[in-house]
This record gives sequence, structure tokens and C-alpha cells, in this order.
Amino acid sequence: MEALRDIEGSGGGRLAEVGTAHRFQGREFPVVVFDTVEDDYGDGFWMAHASRAPEATTWARNGVRLFNVAVTRVQTRLYVIGSRSRILAAEEHTPMGKLAEFIRAQRARSVSATRLIAPNAQVPPDLGQFSSRLADVLSRHVEVSDIDNEISFYDTFADRLAEARTSLWIWSPWTAKRLIGLLPVLGDAVRRGVRVTVFVRDPYDTGQKKQTDLVKQLRKVVPTVVSVNVMHQKIVVIGEHTVLLGSLNSLSQSRSREVMLTIKGGHFARKILTHEHAEDFARPPRCGACKGDDVDLRRRGNGTWYWRCFNRACSGRKGQKAWETPVRFSRGAGQR
Ligand SMILES: [Zn+2]
Repeated sequence: MEALRDIEGSGGGRLAEVGTAHRFQGREFPVVVFDTVEDDYGDGFWMAHASRAPEATTWARNGVRLFNVAVTRVQTRLYVIGSRSRILAAEEHTPMGKLAEFIRAQRARSVSATRLIAPNAQVPPDLGQFSSRLADVLSRHVEVSDIDNEISFYDTFADRLAEARTSLWIWSPWTAKRLIGLLPVLGDAVRRGVRVTVFVRDPYDTGQKKQTDLVKQLRKVVPTVVSVNVMHQKIVVIGEHTVLLGSLNSLSQSRSREVMLTIKGGHFARKILTHEHAEDFARPPRCGACKGDDVDLRRRGNGTWYWRCFNRACSGRKGQKAWETPVRFSRGAGQR
């Protein structure tokens, strides 16, 4: 519902009405989502016990009536949210047993809820037109699953890093002793095939100057470490579905008070990556003059991005003027 409300926007038009089955008695809708509010566990459920069998209780018979009210509101498409295992095990003369017949005869489709609502990097291609659209809407939904301070954050961080399977992006302006404890975890991620990219401030930054050894250690473990001039974002994006965002430098925090949110949602995660030009900024060029990789990412006052060689001994350096080149943005990416 929250995901639906998100796409309704502020235009005033509501895409869906919500209420009990009785509330909609006498009305019809093109699409009805009937939530039985029953799962795999427990025994006191109404819809699962609804029955018209000769020996059925009044309660069980009323259950059938309620089910009937719900499903006859629909004109074209009915979604039922319930327990697949309960439905498939239901007896013949029950509404759920009828549903099971439909599923077996392929007149109804059963889609696992986790496939629809688990934040996917991409909507699975085999969901069909309607379910794909639904999955897309649900993927736009964002859930804040944790709010951490500087003490609790590292447990959350370790858990989320261990879950990384495909990609891991870290923006941490500074590196400090904190990094040493994280290097093994980052190394594990790289070894199991996770693409790890880290953005830190360039080594001439006042706060980073003393940490050149640490950055060297980091580069030995993580293939892509990008130097960014006066970067201040603190972001971690895991597997294009989980974002950790707030005030905390994940690779350097030591004494300060901080807050970090864990935000789940594939759409949001991809939006952040696009916003930060993650792909375009993860490919620093070699210096065109000295051919070295002491190149950092910078931005001019007018907003344009460029790469610049910060090697003081670079052959392309004349006084304050260093070798530089504009950032090439991939097609479709914005320049800002
Ligand atoms: Zn150079």
C-alpha cells in the first residue's frame, strides 16, 4: 500500500481503496487484491477453515460468505494474498481448495511474495506483464530498516557487508585506524567475486595526508580506489538494494557522534548510484603526461567535473598547472 501511495503522488487521485471485504459489498472494481491476512503458521484462521461441507460450523460457513463477498467484487483481475502451502493443501469443498484447483489447472498463477517484494536489482523477467509492473512498483518502495549511532553501526555494517554478493560501493572521505579492522571483510568480499569500489579524499587532503600507508593497504585489497577532491559524502551501497547513508565515515570513524540510516529498496539504491555518477567516476584515467595513476576527481565552481594528476613530480606539471582532462560521462548519464 505504501508503495502504491508513493506512485499516486500528490495529485489527489487515489489508485486504490482499502478496507474489509464487507465495506465494499455491492461495489465492483477492475482489480481486487484480497489479503487473507493468514500465513503458514498457527491454526485459528478463518479463511483457511472456511467450508461448506455438511458438517461445517456456522463460523466456517460464514467464512465462505466472506470469501465470496471479497472475490465477487472483481471485474477483471483478482489477486489473493495468502499461504501457498495452505491453499495447495486445502480440502476440496473449501474456497482455498477451489483456488488450489485453479492453480493446478493453470487458470491461476502463484507468485512467491518474496519474488515481488524482496528488493531486486532487476525485476525478474519471467513474472509476466502484470506481476512485473507490480514488482516494479514495489521496488520503488523504500524501507528504513535500521537507525544506528557510531557504536551500533559497525555491527549493522558487518552484517550488510557479509550479505554483499554482487557489488559494494563505499564513499568515505577519510580512512583511519578503523580501516584495519575492515580490510579482512573487504578482502573476503573481493574474493567471493563482489565488485568493490571505494571513494576517498586525495592524499594531499589535510585529513588524508597522514594516512597514505592505510590507503596503500586498501589498494592492495580493493581493486578500485578513487581519489576525490574535497569529497564529503558518506554512503555505502550494497548489491544495488541496500544503502547506508548518514554522517558517519565508515572507514575512519573513531570518536565523533554520528547517525546512519539503513535504507532498503532497489530503486532507491540505483537512484543514489546514478546521482553519484558511480559508474563514470569509478574509472579514473591514467595521467596523459606522466602515465601514472595519481589522478583525482575534481569539480569546478561552474559544476563541471574533471580528472587531474596530483603527482608533484609529473612531467605535465608547470607550477600550479597540472595535467587534467574532463570526465567523460557515459551516454544517458547527466553531467551534474
Ligand atoms: Zn601526471
